[in-house]
Amino acid sequence: MNNKEFLKQAKAYSEPFCVTKGKKFRLKDVNPADTLDFESDEKPQAEEALATGVEVLAELQEKLWAQDRWAVLIIFQAMDAAGKDGAIKHVMSGVNPQGCEVTSFKAPSAEELDHDFLWRCAKRLPERGRIGIFNRSYYEETLVVRVHQNFLAGQKLPQNLKTKNIWKRRFRDITNFERYLTHNGILVLKFFLHVSKEEQEKRFLARIDDASKNWKFSLNDVREREHWDEYMDAYEQTIRNTASKQAPWYVVPADNKWFTRLVVASAIVENMHALNLDYPKLDEEQLKALEEAKQSLAADERG
Ligand code: ATP
Ligand code: MG
Repeated sequence: MNNKEFLKQAKAYSEPFCVTKGKKFRLKDVNPADTLDFESDEKPQAEEALATGVEVLAELQEKLWAQDRWAVLIIFQAMDAAGKDGAIKHVMSGVNPQGCEVTSFKAPSAEELDHDFLWRCAKRLPERGRIGIFNRSYYEETLVVRVHQNFLAGQKLPQNLKTKNIWKRRFRDITNFERYLTHNGILVLKFFLHVSKEEQEKRFLARIDDASKNWKFSLNDVREREHWDEYMDAYEQTIRNTASKQAPWYVVPADNKWFTRLVVASAIVENMHALNLDYPKLDEEQLKALEEAKQSLAADERG
């Protein structure tokens, strides 16, 4: 598959998983084991397509950087072991590290709790010309914080603001924030890597059985798994209420890592391609200056 062919395919690989209108969205409609038309023995073909996608993304990123107008914010959310880290590593493997920054958001620090919940994320937004990746994000505020309300108790909000409307209000605040970002030239893409509970169990067991993966295993992840259904509800509610045309969610089947990565790369390429990025065009005066520089270099060479 060459770069042009990948650009043609990118939509077919990503659009089936794109959610722009939340109202109709149901998590149970997405099968975590889905691989579209790829059969299980076609993993090498998918990997070849991904390699091309990575090249196309690198070219788009160079134009993004040169043009210095747009920025791209890519958000990853998922249950543990769904493959966020691997997706980031593989999909971004071709891009110039100077133009890309990954930020991981963990439980908030004391300083972060002294601010509104968007504060720590707003500080890490990508500059124009760059791709910013959030490994978890402000969406934790309607996911883990909703599942474990002791986190909400620990947030230093005035008591009368901790009402039952708080989640709806957060959905609205997030939607408005993302709209604001798009009005400022930031392309916002959100990925939920949707792994099944069975596949998660397999991956946890592999982390226990394989010594080289032991470091990835955390007892806390097993405890979170006990809240699976609550998490799935929280994800469904979050996606239903925050998917929009300008800031779509991609709900990506995540039981097959090779397929997940292909879908993520395709979605990013598809959306960045739609920005019509290009290298800056020089005006007449700048072209004249280039010509003069060329002549003076040639004169230098002649000695
Ligand atoms: P990995 O396990 O692959 O290293 P991770 O993203 O799971 O990556 P961890 O350090 O294991 O990183 O977990 C970070 C934890 O921080 C997650 O359980 C997440 O839910 C939690 N977290 C993130 N944001 C918040 C928040 N605003 N409030 C409370 N907990 C949060
Ligand atoms: Mg973890």
